[in-house]
Amino acid sequence: MFESITQGLTGALDALRGQTKLTEKNIADSLGQVRQALLEADVAYDVAKSFTDRVTENAIGRKVLNSINPGQQLVGVVYEELIHLMGPVDHSLHLAGKDEVTVIMLCGLQGSGKTTTCGKLSRILMNSGRRPMMVAADLQRPAAIEQLKTLGGQLDVPVHFEDPQGNSAVNVCRNGLKAAKAAGNIDTLILDTAGRLHIDDDLMKELEQIDNRLHPKQVLFVCDAMTGQDAVNSAKAFNEALELDGVILTKLDGDARGGAALSVKHVTGVPIKYVGVGEQLDKLQEFHPDRMAERILGMGDMRSLVEEAQAKFDQEEMEAAEEKMREGKFTLDTFLSTMKQMKKLGPMGEVMKMIPGMGGAVEAMGDMNPDDDMKQIEGIIQSMTPHERSNPDVIDISRRRRIAKGSGVDPADVNKLLKDFGGMQGMMSKMAGMSIRERMRAVKE
Ligand code: GDP
Repeated sequence: MFESITQGLTGALDALRGQTKLTEKNIADSLGQVRQALLEADVAYDVAKSFTDRVTENAIGRKVLNSINPGQQLVGVVYEELIHLMGPVDHSLHLAGKDEVTVIMLCGLQGSGKTTTCGKLSRILMNSGRRPMMVAADLQRPAAIEQLKTLGGQLDVPVHFEDPQGNSAVNVCRNGLKAAKAAGNIDTLILDTAGRLHIDDDLMKELEQIDNRLHPKQVLFVCDAMTGQDAVNSAKAFNEALELDGVILTKLDGDARGGAALSVKHVTGVPIKYVGVGEQLDKLQEFHPDRMAERILGMGDMRSLVEEAQAKFDQEEMEAAEEKMREGKFTLDTFLSTMKQMKKLGPMGEVMKMIPGMGGAVEAMGDMNPDDDMKQIEGIIQSMTPHERSNPDVIDISRRRRIAKGSGVDPADVNKLLKDFGGMQGMMSKMAGMSIRERMRAVKE
């Protein structure tokens, strides 16, 4: 995702090295390349053009501050404009109090990920203390009802469904609302409405009827990032019929080029509220234009990762590790517990690369593969005495042999771990006490 834009921008900005000021002429070439990169990422032409026009307008004549070069300055303008292009976003779902049932309607074309997103959204709502119910009102796709029932079973969320024979989607939704009210403990109703392969009048009529009868607090359009500009065009058509409150862009984890994420707000006026980043139920995140802009500009996706981490990490253990790092005491024990926690997020190398500053640590780890070697590393560290773990310098040849024997590896493996760890420890103590931005700078140096 976004690699082509990131590369295009980096190349474009490199061209400004050695200039003292941003002028229309010297940025024209760079922005031509930026526009090209946007178009290649499947950003709509009008969006790419107005984006580079705005960047030009805002960049020209800006005095180059002593501390930053024109390239960096242009990155700053591009960053601000990317945020402007995708935002602002009101993340609130405008849920009413728990004594009434708030209706949220999801709509979108078939295959966009609507049913899956119903489940993901229910999970988010449950985690924030709400009691959702889902309504299987997609009577078009035969498997949708069963799929929603399965998701409901996994999440322990009730699902209202009816035999599609002779039923209308509007009635199913109305009965769903009645069932939610009758249940007494339900405060949010999520409607999984019908999709079609293409937009057609019958579909729009059906959705309008549901909208008019159920008065959802939020109408959210689910679309597939992989379909690029088609996703944006369908969002536009749905918005004209239904007045959307937000867009949920799915499959952002795939090899979509990212154009839809950049174009939706500009073309429809409707912001992206959530993004789907995987098939699993925990893979729905709030969309933050600033984070996305940082990611596009190759600055990592730190905050989303931190949020995910907070949900999965053992807080006490992480805080203890962080405290030690801050004090410059990065020991083998800290290393092991941090690795164990991070492993919960996914493949280690990938996770670390996403953290600004940790990309450098991945390099410092040499050809050590954190996932494959994890078990071995754990075994080696556990064969050390607590004293050795805190003071690896005391590990001489005989200790090394003993540790190797204890963990069933070669003494050379122990040596390699100590060497890799030494590199990381140096990096960590250098970073102790630095802010994220300072860390990023330290790694780039
Ligand atoms: P619907 O027809 O709109 O209800 O679509 P589904 O919910 O059945 O989703 C279609 C396919 O997309 C399924 O295989 C989902 O697992 C998959 N899917 C949905 N959201 C995401 C996502 O964010 N990332 C990925 N990789 N797949 C997704």
